Amino acid sequence: MIQRLVVIGVGLIGGSLARALKTACAVGEVVGVGRDARHLAQAVELGVIDRAATLTEAVRGADMIVVAVPVGSIGGVLREIALDIADHAAVTDVGSVKGSVIEGARAALGRRFPAFVPGHPIAGTEQSGVAASTADLFRGRRVILTPAQETRLDALARVSDMWAAAGAEVLSMGADKHDDILAGTSHLPHVLAFTLIDLLVRTHGSGVFELAGTGLRDTTRVAASDPVMWRDICLSNQDAILRVLEQYQTDLGALAEAVRRGDGQWLQDLFARAKHARAGWVE
Ligand code: NAP
Repeated sequence: MIQRLVVIGVGLIGGSLARALKTACAVGEVVGVGRDARHLAQAVELGVIDRAATLTEAVRGADMIVVAVPVGSIGGVLREIALDIADHAAVTDVGSVKGSVIEGARAALGRRFPAFVPGHPIAGTEQSGVAASTADLFRGRRVILTPAQETRLDALARVSDMWAAAGAEVLSMGADKHDDILAGTSHLPHVLAFTLIDLLVRTHGSGVFELAGTGLRDTTRVAASDPVMWRDICLSNQDAILRVLEQYQTDLGALAEAVRRGDGQWLQDLFARAKHARAGWVE
């Protein structure tokens, strides 16, 4: 049972976690922190948080602190709260990139760094803000924790228990592995979707969508995601994203070459391999 949960950034992810823990009766009080008072008032109105507070006021005496702001802002938030974190508190984040967040946290938190448990829920939508939050966003979904060597075991256990109470399955892995895999499974599909929509509109104008069907809609759903969040992710996971983008460019080049030489067998083999793999995943 968490006594006081502080959610810094009460948006889609922070708001959904607060809702899930309230629904599971796993939390006493939920205090929200953000930049825009209107968003916090909306969060109170929706029953997602019990009250809003300033960073310092919220964090003093809290036993669980969740930082759910865009990746590029996590280090700055941790720097601001470092001196107010209680000895018994656990601090975690939900950022989509882990290596650079851990580096930033180590520098920002100093001797409080062992309280920090880096985390990333593999759940979300293309929507943003507290109004889009739901209590069941994490139900049956995975949450990856990437503890550092210094991470306190009691803090790790408490963050793991928190996600389990929210309905998630918790996994642990190294930050490098996380960033490498997520560059392919999440970051690449997002940048491809943004780029594809931009290419179509630049080439044909916005009227192009009148001739588009559900295929384009399904393929590019995530291009409706928040630009600031995705800017931060690209800048925070540069190396891994560049590696997978280069590989993808090479593969697209091979595909273009097969189209050029009219190699139907090559194309069919690729499509069959991918169809088979995707069917296995979805099942
Ligand atoms: P969101 O809905 O836009 O929520 C972000 C919240 O942070 C907003 O409520 C915003 O409120 C607040 N905020 C922004 N900068 C802040 C700052 N410097 N200090 C305090 N509050 C700040 O975004 P989200 O989708 O929940 O994403 C949050 C984090 O979750 C990101 O790190 C993202 O990488 C990660 N994540 C997202 C998904 C996804 O599918 N969306 C999935 C997994 C992980 P104000 O504007 O009122 O301050």
